[in-house]
Parts: sequence; C-alpha cells; structure tokens
Amino acid sequence: MSLLPTVQVTRPPGRWHCSRAWAAPLLALTFAASSIAAVAPREGVEVGANSAFGRLVPADRLERSAGLQYAQLLQRASSQGALAADGDPQLARLRTIARRIIPLAASWNPRAGAWQWEVNLIGSRQINAFCMPGGKIVFFSGLLRQLDLTDDEVAVVMGHEIAHALREHARERLAKGVVTQGAARIGGAVAASIFGIDPRLTDGLARGGANLLTLEFSREDESEADLVGMELAARAGYDPRAGVALWQKMSAANKGAPPQWLSTHPSGKSRIADIQKNLPKVLPLYERAVKP
Ligand SMILES: [Zn+2]
Repeated sequence: MSLLPTVQVTRPPGRWHCSRAWAAPLLALTFAASSIAAVAPREGVEVGANSAFGRLVPADRLERSAGLQYAQLLQRASSQGALAADGDPQLARLRTIARRIIPLAASWNPRAGAWQWEVNLIGSRQINAFCMPGGKIVFFSGLLRQLDLTDDEVAVVMGHEIAHALREHARERLAKGVVTQGAARIGGAVAASIFGIDPRLTDGLARGGANLLTLEFSREDESEADLVGMELAARAGYDPRAGVALWQKMSAANKGAPPQWLSTHPSGKSRIADIQKNLPKVLPLYERAVKP
C-alpha cells in the first residue's frame, strides 16, 4: 500500500565528467575495458535473453496493473487484520533480505532500476510467495512457519520470485495468450480461497485483466527462475545450496496438503538435480560475496 515504506533501489552513479585534457586517455581506457568485457565470459548462470514474445504486451501497463492488484490484495489482507505491521520481526527479516537482493536486479532487467519495490507479509497458512511485475513482493506466513525457512532458503525463494519478474515471465505468458478469461476467473476464486472471502469480491480483480497473483509458469520459466534466483541469492551473500533443502522441504510438505506455491510452480523430478548441476556456476560468487 502507498503508506508502507518502499525499498528503494540504489541507482548506479551518473557518468563521469572530465576536462578535455583527460578525455583522450579516459577514452582509451574505456575502449580497453570494454574490449576485455567483450571477451571475458559472464560469470554465473546462462539463461539467454528475455523472450521476445513479451514485447507484445506493454511493460509499463502490465506493471501498473500489477501495482493495482497488489494494492487490492494488501487492502483485503489489511481489512482482515492479516497484513503484517512494519514492526513485525518476520517482515523486517524479509525486507533485510530483499534489500540485499534488489540492487542486483537492474543488471538482469534495466526497468527494475526504476521499480518501486515493496515487500509485505500476509498472515495465512498458505505456503506461498510471489513477486509481481514491477517488484511487488508478498510472502505468506505459512511458507516461513510451516517450512521453517532459514534466511538462505528465504533468499532462494525470494530470488526465484524476483527472477520471474525480471525475466518478464508474466508478460511472456500474457503475450502468448495462455491466460484466458476462464483462467482469470479461476484465479479470482483461488485468490478468494486464500483469504476465505466471497469469490464474487475478487471477480473485479479478474475482470481488470489476467490475475497476476495466480499465474502459472511453464517448466522452462521455472527452471530459469531457479537458476537466476540462485545467482541473485549467491551474489547477495546467501548460500545457493539452500535451494536443495528448500525443494526437499517443499516436497515433504506436498505429502500433506499441497502447498499453494506448487500449484503455480509446477515441479519436475529433475528440479533438485538441475539446481545441483548449476551450483558450481554460482558458488564462487557466493564465496566472494559480502555475507549478511
Ligand atoms: Zn516459480
């Protein structure tokens, strides 16, 4: 909500100013540096460019729509006394972790440098979390409590969710027309079931466009979010190996009532194996990172 403090992204400093006398040597240095950058392989995971499909949906409009849905969600949670207050220790913990990850976001998506990031915690038994386009993050207390997540595991979940936003998976899904009017209505009902309120109240949410809260991503999107999320967590100083424990906990929880998170995050058997396979690419980043 607008009254809540937002996490501001630290923008990179502006261009250097220099007198003419310095210009030529500096240009030469810049040229040399960019030549080195061109040949040096990028450290970390390899996922390629964002899908070109997404360009069919205007990013600013999608981010505005996400912002509205987020505000409505927080308002409903607040009216039911389920929105964590600023002084809540678990919320403070989430925001501390987010503050370490968010400055890394713009290197994956330049738009993210201007996003008005928000991190909120909703009291619910649901095992769920998401980051909507534009950097609007929600964690449900059930995820923290029922899976008893460590800070490293929270960072991996948060990195994963932020990665979906940075890689514009929602934009891509919408552009591909996967979200039909029917799916949007089902989304409204699911959103209603989270808070135990009349589904008709959430129909307005669905009518405003596709329900971004319950968007289901593809297997490829999930794999990408796992990898980018691991790298974000590692660079932020959180142990990316926590991804393995996280998925083991998620699978164990799935034997009882399936976590809501799994309904929007289809899990393949190879998921943990893929994470393990990619750990060597991000562990050096974690080892060098400043730890919390
Ligand atoms: Zn996901």
